[in-house]
Amino acid sequence: MQNLERLSAELKEYLVERPDIVVTNHFNPDGDAVGSATALCGVLMQLGLKVKMIMPNDYAANLKWMTLSEEVLFYDQAEAEADTYLENAGLLIHLDYNNPARSGPMELAIRHSKAKKLMIDHHQQPDDFCDWTYSDTSMSSTCEMVWHFLEAMGWTELLSKDLAEALYTGIATDTGNFRFSSTSPLTHRVAAQLLEKGVENQKVASRVYDSNSISRFQLLGRTLNQMEILEDFNTTILYLDQKDLDACGFQKGDTEGFVNYGLSLENMELSAFILPRDGGHKLSFRSKTSFDVNQFARTYFEGGGHKNAAGGKSDRNMEDTIAYLKDCLKSHQEELKSYASIV
Ligand code: 5GP
Ligand code: MN
Repeated sequence: MQNLERLSAELKEYLVERPDIVVTNHFNPDGDAVGSATALCGVLMQLGLKVKMIMPNDYAANLKWMTLSEEVLFYDQAEAEADTYLENAGLLIHLDYNNPARSGPMELAIRHSKAKKLMIDHHQQPDDFCDWTYSDTSMSSTCEMVWHFLEAMGWTELLSKDLAEALYTGIATDTGNFRFSSTSPLTHRVAAQLLEKGVENQKVASRVYDSNSISRFQLLGRTLNQMEILEDFNTTILYLDQKDLDACGFQKGDTEGFVNYGLSLENMELSAFILPRDGGHKLSFRSKTSFDVNQFARTYFEGGGHKNAAGGKSDRNMEDTIAYLKDCLKSHQEELKSYASIV
């Protein structure tokens, strides 16, 4: 990890060579990933640099209003073209992920790239694969970090209202609208400066949250109807199987945030949400206070993330995934019970 001042000085020196830049983010890009990529890309374009955004796969429709959205190349839809950009790049920027594996189908292309690499990320345990690593796990979001990065580079003046709205979106979505404990005084200061750039927060919120599809509502109904409450573990298990997804006409992004419903239930410390993915299952974990879901996901589900928000995967079928999860919880029962009692 490097100090931001030194990192920005070195980077400025390298940018004098005007390298071709590729901005990337993680598989299934969320608001923070898309917001940070589009905002940073917009600033680099204003500097007259050649920059391309390549994301591993498509993202939810409620983020498509963001400026520069139409400029994105999706790796899983245009692999050959994307590989050419990655091969020719002089600088790769990795936003909102800290390990090439999190970029899904782009992993090998990233590992093989000879470009210089810059990471800006707030997840735990960053991999050491970049020339410049700006990693800070105390940060609310990568979008907040991009603001600090722009400040260090002396580029905040280049952030237009549209680009500021992209950053604001990532901060708002990653903090659960300034609710999670990762929201610091500094987060609010950055948000305030973005508002001063003209961000229309009500418009951003409306575009992100007031665009529910009927399929999302139907899926939410099913999720809540079939949830399992493990009172002895202060844990809620939510899931949707393939039959549920097919019956409701699942579209990408429909289940975003469902995992949080499990935590809004009285006394719950842990919520898990399970969804079919790639022949196996994807799990999302959220904890309310001190239960470390990053560690839990790493230990049992080949995953990771943050202390209070993490994800992982399982190769088992749904029934066995739930049984395995319950088994894993057994060795954490005391922690889960004691955390809930201190809220
Ligand atoms: P979500 O549950 O919303 O997919 O992810 C919650 C957090 O955990 C996000 O910050 C995400 O980047 C991270 N995360 C989700 N799945 C994985 C995974 O399989 N591996 C790792 N390392 N992090 C993950
Ligand atoms: Mn993030």
